[in-house]
Amino acid sequence: MKDLSVYYCPECGRYTFSQTTKTIICPICGISMIRLTDYADFCTLNKEERDRLLVQNMITENPSVSSRFLTYTRFCAGSKASDLQDTYIRQLESENKELNNTIQWMHQMIWDLIHKNKALEHELENHLPPCHFRQDPKS
Ligand SMILES: [Zn+2]
Repeated sequence: MKDLSVYYCPECGRYTFSQTTKTIICPICGISMIRLTDYADFCTLNKEERDRLLVQNMITENPSVSSRFLTYTRFCAGSKASDLQDTYIRQLESENKELNNTIQWMHQMIWDLIHKNKALEHELENHLPPCHFRQDPKS
């Protein structure tokens, strides 16, 4: 019986263990998986070492992996940057709304004061002596 081996997909990096000599197909990509190493050797590696071994083999097998990886990390950095931008825009919109509310409130207060002032003027006119006492002395 054949020893247990580790097989990986050169496209997506998924790996599996198998004793079979038959072709193993990646369930995601639908392509043949490649033998990576003996299961016993793979078990001596920690997670980081396993990932490194996989990535090294993937890059050797398919050089486009490095450019796809870079595209992906750049995309992630880009969407992180646009998330920050979105947060900043939302903050500005909220501040703008608050300022607009303040302006409306101040506008209303000014109108109220003008109306009160007019009312006081009318009241004052009612308490002034009749018009002929207020005539210009020169006329
Ligand atoms: Zn795959």
